Amino acid sequence: MSVELVTNQTPINILQSVFGYKSFRNQQEAVIEQIISGGDALVLMPTGGGKSLCYQVPALLLDGTAIVISPLIALMQDQVMALRLFGIKAAFINSSLNAEEVNEVENRLIGGELDLLYVAPERLMMSRMLSLLDQEKISLFAIDEAHCVSQWGHDFRPEYIQLSVLHERFPSVPRIALTATADETTRTEIIQRLALDQARVFNDGFDRPNIQYRINENQGNAREQLLRFILNEHEGDTGIVYCLSRKRVDQIAQWLEGKGLKALAYHAGMSNDVRQHHQERFLREEGVIIVATIAFGMGIDKPDVRFVAHLNLPKSIEGYYQETGRAGRDGLPANTWMSYGLQDVITLRQMQHGSTGEENYKRIEGHKLDAMLGLCEITTCRRQAMLRYFGDEMGEPCGNCDNCITPPQTWDATEAAQKAISCVHRTGQRFGVKYLVDVLLGKDDDRIIQFDHHRVSTFGIGTELDNKEWSTLYRQLIASGFLRVDFEGHGSVKLTEAARPVLKGEQRLTLRRMLKSSKTKLRKTRAFAATANNALWESLRQHRTELAEDQGVPAYVIFHDATLAEMTERQPQTLKQLSNISGVGESKLEAYGESFLDIILSHSKADPFIDKSDTVQETIELHNQKLSPQEIADKREMTLSTIYKHLSRGIEMGELKITDVLALEENEIKIIQSVFEDCEDGKLKSVYEELNGEYDYGVLGCVKASLGN
Ligand code: ADP
Ligand code: ZN
Repeated sequence: MSVELVTNQTPINILQSVFGYKSFRNQQEAVIEQIISGGDALVLMPTGGGKSLCYQVPALLLDGTAIVISPLIALMQDQVMALRLFGIKAAFINSSLNAEEVNEVENRLIGGELDLLYVAPERLMMSRMLSLLDQEKISLFAIDEAHCVSQWGHDFRPEYIQLSVLHERFPSVPRIALTATADETTRTEIIQRLALDQARVFNDGFDRPNIQYRINENQGNAREQLLRFILNEHEGDTGIVYCLSRKRVDQIAQWLEGKGLKALAYHAGMSNDVRQHHQERFLREEGVIIVATIAFGMGIDKPDVRFVAHLNLPKSIEGYYQETGRAGRDGLPANTWMSYGLQDVITLRQMQHGSTGEENYKRIEGHKLDAMLGLCEITTCRRQAMLRYFGDEMGEPCGNCDNCITPPQTWDATEAAQKAISCVHRTGQRFGVKYLVDVLLGKDDDRIIQFDHHRVSTFGIGTELDNKEWSTLYRQLIASGFLRVDFEGHGSVKLTEAARPVLKGEQRLTLRRMLKSSKTKLRKTRAFAATANNALWESLRQHRTELAEDQGVPAYVIFHDATLAEMTERQPQTLKQLSNISGVGESKLEAYGESFLDIILSHSKADPFIDKSDTVQETIELHNQKLSPQEIADKREMTLSTIYKHLSRGIEMGELKITDVLALEENEIKIIQSVFEDCEDGKLKSVYEELNGEYDYGVLGCVKASLGN
């Protein structure tokens, strides 16, 4: 292999100095090592896992230009802008550029001026482009969204098939293929079609631990539930609300807007201009809620989407995972929320039934919907079930889905199910759910009398449940396949084979009990926990917005929420301290450091909790001269506990390392940290007692300060 390193930098140096991040995540470093040693890689990482750094860091380390192939043309400009703010030389070529602009980029490529060049696949495959690349030094090829090569997947792109040419034409250039969709079949197909059989496969699994999953029953008030969810937990946040139809999209967007929220519609039936404009606002402004059909999302790469809500049922777990996956790409907590009801089940089944696909295809689609319904009705951990569906096992329940947080009650529904099924049978399998429920409740109704159903044995035998409870039960029976809805018979409910054992009493049924009201108390997701510093947080965001508008880039390109949240929490007082914040690399420090620091400093003046004198700094300096805490205390004529407070502040600000401050083994520190984490109130006193007074308060304070790092 003919890769050459251009610098004597290491991957971790680049990560810290250019990107401003402290450490690599999961397999990032291993992937980077593989590429810079000249090998190929197939990287399977969930959305938000950090795939881009896997090729961006090698691009900076290796001689030549890295070629990044991506189908997401709309994103290229923002991606390239984001890289430039990190001080990286990047450009893109796609159909949005005119001939002159293309020429200019090509000249920069020829001049060896580019670290990274993003190209659309169809552009790359033009013979002109390929022969240009023949003459240049190419450091690597990164094939983003590699699943687009799979003909069975949902995002198939014919141009991707031709990418195997790269291997033949540039055999010595390392290739890295990346995707977040990677079931076994797709993976095999990627390897085969891109000739990646020599590639090392890096698989980080599918889990998105920062996403909370919640699925609610629609009790006829989904819209209000949604509003409550947004107002209670996500006021001012960016979010996506998915609806099934265009009409519903328009209605919901208007309704939310009427409630004072910044909600915009997005669907294929709108004029191009308006749609573009809405997407643009979603990307650039803070706190926009986009209400959309599932057409929205592909190619949306906004990292700070705090919630994704579904007012309809996705067609499959794959769809659900992908759509909810647009939340929380930045790794900060994000919520997903869905409301579903009987009508969703009927509508989706009907759509599938009416589709013109082959029988085999329809059957597979039917199974996928069944699996999705199973996920809705399940009473155990939703994440475990979802990961299992994708072939990942997760040992323990996740603790971050609705079923884990408020375990649903279940009940023995056998007898009720027998009544419900029997009622379908007695009335001739010709009626819909509403009618069946009326019969069970013994309602005085003209239609029932007309059909003589007030004389059947199930008439009025169901008064132990109410209207809603029976509807829920029917939904569950349909969702679990004991009953089915016949579309040729205008939505009438029919028995399936599976109903027989239940009717005969051979099978017992345990079902999820319907929630009487949705007062479940769940965590409030915010980018950061400390509400005390709301004012600073808002000022920093405001400043970011202004900068972003000036430069015509989305706000997150300047700094992510996570970075602003850390600034808010730690309140750095010097540029050096600011540079320790994750996401503040050298180039951004130079461009924005002063102005953000000014805001923090003027805020600190008003904050009594910030130590404004240099006393902390003085202690830190003495510590750096290798004085022990006791020696510092003696020298400064201060109490030992004050010195420990200074040291813990230094740890908190990222200036000191806990292992340098305390004369304890790393393991011992870890144990104390875990006691803090397990401790409910997180108070020093509780931890002190838990550890039987073995460690002084000063020591514990330092450990506590290290927890955020
Ligand atoms: P993906 O392409 O896998 O969806 P990205 O590459 O866009 O994910 O990364 C998601 C987010 O995580 C980005 O905002 C990125 O800057 C951030 N990130 C990636 N790796 C790290 C890391 N090692 N430390 C901190 N942040 C990281
Ligand atoms: Zn769970």
